[in-house]
Amino acid sequence: MNNNTFLYRVGLNPENFINRDIEPIKTDEGLLYLVEERKDIRICPYCNNNLKNEIKKYYYTNINVSSNSNMKEILQIKRVQYICKNCNKTFTNGLKGINGHNTISEFIKNQIIHDFRQKLSFKQISEKYHISIGMTIKLFDEQVTVTPTGHLPKVLCIDEYHFETNKDSKYICILIDYETRTVFDIIQSRQKAYLEEYFNRFNSKELERVKYFCSDLYDEYASIKRKYFPKAIHIADKFHVIKQMTTIVNMLRTRVMNKVVEYKSKEYNFMKKNWKLFLKRQEDIPNKTYYHQSSGIETSYGDLVFNCVKLNEHFSKAYNVLQDLYKYSDKTTYTEATEFIRFIYERLRLSTLDELVKVGNTFYKWRHEIANSFARNATGYNISNGIAENMNNHIATIIKIAYGYSNYERFKKRVLLICKYNKNWI
Ligand SMILES: [Zn+2]
Repeated sequence: MNNNTFLYRVGLNPENFINRDIEPIKTDEGLLYLVEERKDIRICPYCNNNLKNEIKKYYYTNINVSSNSNMKEILQIKRVQYICKNCNKTFTNGLKGINGHNTISEFIKNQIIHDFRQKLSFKQISEKYHISIGMTIKLFDEQVTVTPTGHLPKVLCIDEYHFETNKDSKYICILIDYETRTVFDIIQSRQKAYLEEYFNRFNSKELERVKYFCSDLYDEYASIKRKYFPKAIHIADKFHVIKQMTTIVNMLRTRVMNKVVEYKSKEYNFMKKNWKLFLKRQEDIPNKTYYHQSSGIETSYGDLVFNCVKLNEHFSKAYNVLQDLYKYSDKTTYTEATEFIRFIYERLRLSTLDELVKVGNTFYKWRHEIANSFARNATGYNISNGIAENMNNHIATIIKIAYGYSNYERFKKRVLLICKYNKNWI
């Protein structure tokens, strides 16, 4: 292999080395490349003498130039130490691309720093570059800074994610700028004290920038909204509204499966295997048939969902309410949306099943915010559809990647780096 090509690839300047072809040596660890530093540059940095400087000794430096988890690559440099005959001092020449006593080249270091923006865990990055996790984290802590956030966004979405930062805080809050689809900031806990401490830092003019406040149905958000964003429109995230119902439908499906139908009957097997179909919009159920082996009977998916749901009054009610929720139209006015949500919660509150009444009460309590999310005219925005399903999944993935970060500040910095400064994070 040509020396120059290789050196350029790992970010070193070939001018510092004796030009000759290099063949990598296979070792137990990976590949070893041997290069030799040039010996004809002998200007003493102390007295500028370049005449009688002599070679004092040779020594070897190993530089890790791996950038592929499959193969460790080590560059071994035969280095020269000179002694100045004029001032009697010893010196070495610096190598462009290698900083001080670092064991990785600057080029590789920059690649690693770049990878901190990618959806790669610290462990994956360590493996890719064949360095220890400790070193990866040290690089992250020392080399990466995340600048403070700018202005509060016009459409502020707040959502929590499971992440234990300490004993009494199991959820962190992620603030999203809806319009730019970026993570605005992260708050350590969704508890009142933390939320207030966070929003207290903004002056009233800054807080007034927020025209729409979008959240799930968590009570603390309602009081935060009232206290800090009194003039903004509060929108209940549609995804979370629907999730209230899908959770109940799923619970009732399990209940019917285990208590109402016969074990291993057609309905039992179908409900167990195709649980997702019960949470879908009716029109999205695939046009397929289900074959029950022991009876030899074939039934369409649609019919089977219908038959199963019919088995229990509460299951049937929950399923129908969910289907009605799916039927909302984005073109509805605020009044129509209010009527629509009333139609939903009234039915739930009339139920004899506590769980359904409870959801009905939640919907009642949040009726205005839910109506805001269903009514297009009230907001001009069609908030929460996209954010919910798409961004939530991505953030959840990033949190999983970040999970090993015992240190919350480090975790926060990493999440912000991935979600704020990597335009392609979604
Ligand atoms: Zn000298």
